[in-house]
Amino acid sequence: MSAALPGIATRCAHAGARRREVDGANAPFQPAIAQSTIFDLGSAADAEAIFSGARPGYAYSRFGNPTVDVLAETIAGLEGGAGALITSSGNAAVLCAVTAALEGRTGPLIAHQDIYGGSFELIQILSDVCRVPVETVDSTDREAWRRAVSKAGAVLLETPSNPLMRLIDLEETVAAARITGAPVIVDNTVATPFNQRPFAAGVDWIVHSTTKYLNGHSDMIGGCVVKREPLTGKNRRVHKSLGGTVNALDAWLVLRGLRTFALRMEAHNRNGQAVAEWLARHPAVARVYYAGDPTHPQAELFRRQMRHGGALLSFELKGGADAAIRFIDRLRLVVHAVSLGGMESLATRPAMSSHRGMPPEARREAGISESLIRLSVGVETLEDILADLDHALAN
Ligand code: PLP
Repeated sequence: MSAALPGIATRCAHAGARRREVDGANAPFQPAIAQSTIFDLGSAADAEAIFSGARPGYAYSRFGNPTVDVLAETIAGLEGGAGALITSSGNAAVLCAVTAALEGRTGPLIAHQDIYGGSFELIQILSDVCRVPVETVDSTDREAWRRAVSKAGAVLLETPSNPLMRLIDLEETVAAARITGAPVIVDNTVATPFNQRPFAAGVDWIVHSTTKYLNGHSDMIGGCVVKREPLTGKNRRVHKSLGGTVNALDAWLVLRGLRTFALRMEAHNRNGQAVAEWLARHPAVARVYYAGDPTHPQAELFRRQMRHGGALLSFELKGGADAAIRFIDRLRLVVHAVSLGGMESLATRPAMSSHRGMPPEARREAGISESLIRLSVGVETLEDILADLDHALAN
């Protein structure tokens, strides 16, 4: 009988830990921070073996680093992928995955209109500067999305989308992409491997901004690309040559954060659900966007695809943009800051921050209004978060 994979909380609690079975007795339990640019190559014959790939070894930290490799192995395990590449930011992860997925393919890169603003700007640059054929499609038009995906060179999507929490059916997208064999890349930053398992739906690549829930402490910037199938030499060459590799200390900080990932997600999920329900009942709130809302228009897909709605949500106030500005200015505990997935609750207006680089017309088409507020619900005591929101919403 094969041993069952340990639970996610067990794997997180031991993330990156060194054990005597692998490293011999008395190895330090915590992984070492290999803060070094270079590695002694040994003899000329050793160097030849390392550079030719005849045996594993390190030469230069942009090509590979022991601490970074421990993180890659850990994240690949959490997502259930065969391998992972660690990057210096979530945006670098998107660039790396898109470049690797498009290698040798001819069709366009298909993405949806309301993708994260930074990814939107990145694919516009790929289109304008690098002449990569790119099409952005309204994913709420299921037929238009299916049609675009079925002639894609590669597909880039986020579900739930940030900030409007729209879902995309992963199984349906993978089935349409199989027509041309286009790789499907899913940004799983918002859902996290705790709440959604894209590889189970047949997705090819997963990307993350590790800056967010995986690290969870708002103290570094990083990303990762995970592949369901084993990484090829070409994939590694893309990663190394784009240059968006991470340093050992930041990789270690993600490993450190991962130790509490499962615990934090339990608390995020609990608070996220409670805050979404509370806001939906508040008389000043016009509308709440939350993936786990039972009245969400895609509630059936949510039940099929996600374990929980998580802790990211958006909402509109009845008083419009003026009320949204007043709300932000009255917050005391919740931090007015961009980003998401840290232990602290954060609020921002996407139109003036994360989606500012999107042309206003594209923002309107994507449904991101000037008055929309996005809330990343943290792990503070729930009553304290609600008291702060209540104060900020009061007349
Ligand atoms: N993907 C999503 C869904 C994000 O929210 C972000 C950042 O907010 C990114 C990617 C980019 O990550 P980074 O800021 O680490 O480059």
